Amino acid sequence: MGNKQFVIQFGGLSVGTHDYEFEVTNTFFESFEYSEVHKANIKVKLEVVKQNNLLTLNFEIGGTIGVDCDRCLAEFDIPVSSKQSLVVKHGDVEETNDDIVVLSHGATEVNISQPLYEFINLAIPVRKVPCEISKKYKCDTETLNRLNNISIDENPEEENNPLWDKLKNINFNNN
Ligand SMILES: [Zn+2]
Repeated sequence: MGNKQFVIQFGGLSVGTHDYEFEVTNTFFESFEYSEVHKANIKVKLEVVKQNNLLTLNFEIGGTIGVDCDRCLAEFDIPVSSKQSLVVKHGDVEETNDDIVVLSHGATEVNISQPLYEFINLAIPVRKVPCEISKKYKCDTETLNRLNNISIDENPEEENNPLWDKLKNINFNNN
């Protein structure tokens, strides 16, 4: 597995708190075959709290992700930020779940790529219409009009669909 820089060697760490910083960019997502994210500029602060029998990983994720607007298909960088925690311990590997990573006995390193990938994806809003997030963003009205026209041509009976009126209004408000 790639992303070797996201491996925490905790075997030699003293009991206590240790701080790490990571940069997550486009290349991070290349190792995830089905990633919907391809563009990112994210900083991750990771606090590793080591106790005798377990580690607690506290992630602070902040930056931007490139997404395609759900409405006009233009690409935007949207802000993402998130705080997440993960417990790492030794035991039955099968017991690993979203909150706990269970490593086999004797393991002294943990790869945080997968949980980090999931945390970042969780931080992306389900509805990706950047102009609804901030006035700073605008929908590509040209594409939007073209998409609307195509849809109306294909579905003439929907010409009076209140959804289109709603879309037109939203579009108007953002100009
Ligand atoms: Zn848009």
